[in-house]
Amino acid sequence: MSSALPSYAEAAAIVAAQAAELARQPASERVELAQAAGRVLAASLHADRDQPPFPRSTRDGFACRAAEANTHQPLNVAGSIHAGQPPAGPLPYGAAWEIMTGAPVPGGADAVAMIEHVDRGSDSPSTVRLRPPRTLEPGENIVPQGAEARAGEEVLPGGTRIGPQHVALAAACGHSGVEVFRRPRVAILTTGDELVSVAATPGPGQIRNSNGVMLALLVSQAGGDPWILATAGDNDQSLDESLRKAVSADMLLVTGGVSAGKFDLVEPALARIGARFLFTGVRIQPGKPLVFGDVSRKHHSSAGVSAGKVLPFFGLPGNPISSAATFLLFGSRVLGALAGWRAAGPRFALARLVKDVKGKPDLTRFVPSFCNFGPDAAEPPEVKTVPSEGSGDLTSFSRSNCFLVVPEGTDRLEAGATVRILLV
Ligand code: AMP
Ligand code: MG
Repeated sequence: MSSALPSYAEAAAIVAAQAAELARQPASERVELAQAAGRVLAASLHADRDQPPFPRSTRDGFACRAAEANTHQPLNVAGSIHAGQPPAGPLPYGAAWEIMTGAPVPGGADAVAMIEHVDRGSDSPSTVRLRPPRTLEPGENIVPQGAEARAGEEVLPGGTRIGPQHVALAAACGHSGVEVFRRPRVAILTTGDELVSVAATPGPGQIRNSNGVMLALLVSQAGGDPWILATAGDNDQSLDESLRKAVSADMLLVTGGVSAGKFDLVEPALARIGARFLFTGVRIQPGKPLVFGDVSRKHHSSAGVSAGKVLPFFGLPGNPISSAATFLLFGSRVLGALAGWRAAGPRFALARLVKDVKGKPDLTRFVPSFCNFGPDAAEPPEVKTVPSEGSGDLTSFSRSNCFLVVPEGTDRLEAGATVRILLV
């Protein structure tokens, strides 16, 4: 009975509560800044000096006193400074100082007139004049010393997932290496007698294991260290053996074998290693058979980095699109908590729907869709579903970049409506 299953929102709340309980700060290690992309900062970073370290000109032009420039009288060019030179000055009264972008503004100057906004005299020594009717405000085209950050100030909090913007700031503040959390090790156990490895030639009735690599990438993107185990067959012995290995990880993802089929043996196998189930199904499509829970470590040792008291696990449905959607919706949240990443979890955005989409009375749908975020994107960006043969259709999935969210109980989402999308 599907009504006994939690709704998407209820399941998300269960996972969020669990994630909060599992949240931890793993052991840390030091890495070169250039290797730090995608890692999570273990401690906050501080500015080693004021940023900018001197009043910085943001333009090529002439440093001057705004009040003098605004008289539109010629100002004597007292000197010239470019980026990399030590601060110059003081600026004599009635004078301007030629300056390049990024150079320290000479003492006494309170504005920079852009080169495009001045007329240069032909006389010698040379003069410049702010071209009427232009005027300058004090402070114009200057970033004051320390305006971006003060020496000693925290510029990045611990728990930040390091992106290009953070690398640049860390570099500017002199952090050539940073302390980052070690990545939680995530065991990925694919199950199914039909599966062969990607390199193998499938026999009759066999298919290649596409979930393994896909989940490994999703895990990496969510801040984890994927550990792909050998595929388990659809029998108790094979599952038991694989799970015995997998329990040493920080988190476990099993795919396949969780629906109601005759060979869906994963739940009982998890139960045999002492699993506690927090839910065994969610009112979502795809992904309805999703299983979530944990295994106490009392009887199992951990080789992982976070050494938690429990091993959280997800039993993801085998269909690749179901696996991807459920990992993004729920798995990423738990993994982020284990990774010490503050802002982990699914990312949603708003878009405008191009064509009507039907909803379901008792399921939240996540429909593979394409949203145009490109340079020609509309505002808000437009999203349309991709035609699909269902949650095993990887060709169609590869044309998508998001899932359209159709909330439970929605009769239909109409063209033109503002809708939520889950970013892939
Ligand atoms: P299951 O959840 O085990 O009933 O599997 C549902 C569907 O997903 C079946 O068509 C499986 O063949 C397929 N499937 C299961 N695991 C994988 C995998 N690792 N890679 C690709 N397809 C899979
Ligand atoms: Mg199966």
